Amino acid sequence: MRYHEPLFRPPSEADSFILQATLGCSWNACTYCGMYRNKCYQVRPTEEVLSDIAEAAAQMAPDVRHVFVADGDPLAMSLDQWEPILAALQAAFPRLRRVSTYATARNLLEKLPAELKRLREMGLSLLYIGPESGDDLTLQRIAKGANAADHVEAARKAKEAGMEQSLMFLLGAGGRERSEEHARASGRLATAMDPRFLSTLTLTVVPGTPIFHLANQGRFELPDVYGLLTELRWFMEEAHPSAAIFRSNHASNYLPIGGRLPRDREAILATIDQALAGEVRLRPEWRRGL
Ligand code: SF4
Repeated sequence: MRYHEPLFRPPSEADSFILQATLGCSWNACTYCGMYRNKCYQVRPTEEVLSDIAEAAAQMAPDVRHVFVADGDPLAMSLDQWEPILAALQAAFPRLRRVSTYATARNLLEKLPAELKRLREMGLSLLYIGPESGDDLTLQRIAKGANAADHVEAARKAKEAGMEQSLMFLLGAGGRERSEEHARASGRLATAMDPRFLSTLTLTVVPGTPIFHLANQGRFELPDVYGLLTELRWFMEEAHPSAAIFRSNHASNYLPIGGRLPRDREAILATIDQALAGEVRLRPEWRRGL
């Protein structure tokens, strides 16, 4: 398999066949993101991608149920680029249940409803989207490329096409200054986008990123651990998806929790309150990661 490092995938795709159809991210501007800084965005030649699918099929066709299409925002590919890939995946893996990929609100807004529907019909069923914040000022500052209303519209288009969403929000993205506005607006955006899967991660200030330079100049300050847990509390107070699986077990988080919403809402809030009161052991700094 011809993987071009670095290669990222969501934790929940650990057992999936990772197909690298694009390299890097077509946006590559978010101020906190260091994932693809050294990669120039490109769509890999179709024949190379089809050859990777054929190679994977020869090695593990009966075992592949999930495929994750990398890198940063493959939904940026045109329908013409997606169609042969999705057709080849369906032909190669008889037990295929799910094809997923990272997507941005911009990717969704740029696609026609008919194009999204066609992608869904051909098997693309789950989009990982990281609005990171629901606060427009924070979204502007982190250069996400879309505001809260754009994300709501993007979610509407995804749903209309029959695609499920897994949303990620980033505790700390508003810094100390926008902490409460960021956390509460993020919860409200989660409600409005109404995903099937919902998660919170914690911002890590990565050397070499614009936010790292802002932090060095004293123009961005991450809340402390108590402040980040408080953000999680505010987020949960506002997040009312109709039926979602919530996880905050990403390695970047201090408090790994999860459950089904709305069923487990009170239990989740109680655990956060215990953590705020110092009654729960938090993940130690040395065990945290990106
Ligand atoms: S859209 Fe995602 S991959 Fe691209 S720069 Fe932003 S966070 Fe990084």
